[in-house]
Amino acid sequence: MTSVYNSTVIGKILLTPDLMVLRIRTDEPRDEFIAGQYTTIGLLSNEERSANSVMTIESVKENVLIKRPYSIASAKHEVSEFEFYISQVKSGQLTPRLFNLTQGRRMWIDNHIHGIFNLNDVPENSNIVMIATGTGLAPYLSFLRSHINDHKDSKLAIIHGAGYPWDLGYYSELKFIQQAFSNFYYFPTLLKADVSWTGLTGYIEKHLQANILQEKAGIEINPDKTHFFLCGNPKMIESVTNYLSNYDYTKHGHDQSGSLHVEEY
Ligand SMILES: Cc1cc2nc3c(=O)[nH]c(=O)nc-3n(C[C@H](O)[C@H](O)[C@H](O)COP(=O)(O)OP(=O)(O)OC[C@H]3O[C@@H](n4cnc5c(N)ncnc54)[C@H](O)[C@@H]3O)c2cc1C
Repeated sequence: MTSVYNSTVIGKILLTPDLMVLRIRTDEPRDEFIAGQYTTIGLLSNEERSANSVMTIESVKENVLIKRPYSIASAKHEVSEFEFYISQVKSGQLTPRLFNLTQGRRMWIDNHIHGIFNLNDVPENSNIVMIATGTGLAPYLSFLRSHINDHKDSKLAIIHGAGYPWDLGYYSELKFIQQAFSNFYYFPTLLKADVSWTGLTGYIEKHLQANILQEKAGIEINPDKTHFFLCGNPKMIESVTNYLSNYDYTKHGHDQSGSLHVEEY
């Protein structure tokens, strides 16, 4: 039987035992995609699970392709090499198998790339605020890597919520972009940091309420001037969506345009 696998792992960077950047080269190039979209990746159920995972609640049959969607972190023009930012769900089906991969191993990636979480409907002069928890940062890496030069006349900000300092993947890249582009602002905020962390702490909502965007970046919370993107934890999405509804933000969707863009993991 020929294998369903159609790609090769070309890089795996473990940031913590449960957080990684995975780079995959496809045998055949994909079509150019839109920054912020996701694709589906998979491994067969007979692949081994990582040593630090736990038993799943349900078992899977032999030789079944386990597939899940992941946001693409790489730039839109990179159509043969894809980067993903993945956290391990220890009791999950796919992620423990992904965490057991090593460079050179084979795996599967869908031919199709999907999603409407993108910058296409953001007016050129609109500010863009990108809010993420954990690996919800991935689509913003693709936004910045693909489009930072297209938004020189507006302001861009990332607010990234995580647990510990070591959970802040892409910290150096985002700090570097902040140094290089005066219109880009990076606000990492940690829930579990100790005193050695001198940056922001606590929930993202606290900083929005304290007016961090206006005060530190001159960004107004106003749907005519600023588009918001929310990606990651459903609880963060719900509470930030509620907060933004006080400012008359409406959700962007297939059949309506709005200044609030949401991707739930
Ligand atoms: C559009 C989109 C983009 C995404 N992008 C990313 C990304 O960039 N990075 C990322 O890390 N994740 C991303 N995700 C999430 C990802 O698709 C997976 O859901 C995640 O990685 C977990 O997969 P898994 O197979 O390891 O866990 P699963 O097996 O799917 O399990 C998920 C959870 O359900 C629980 N569970 C499993 N079976 C049962 C059961 N029978 N009863 C009760 N609970 C159960 C598990 O304990 C676990 O908590 C994205 C999701 C979407 C929808």
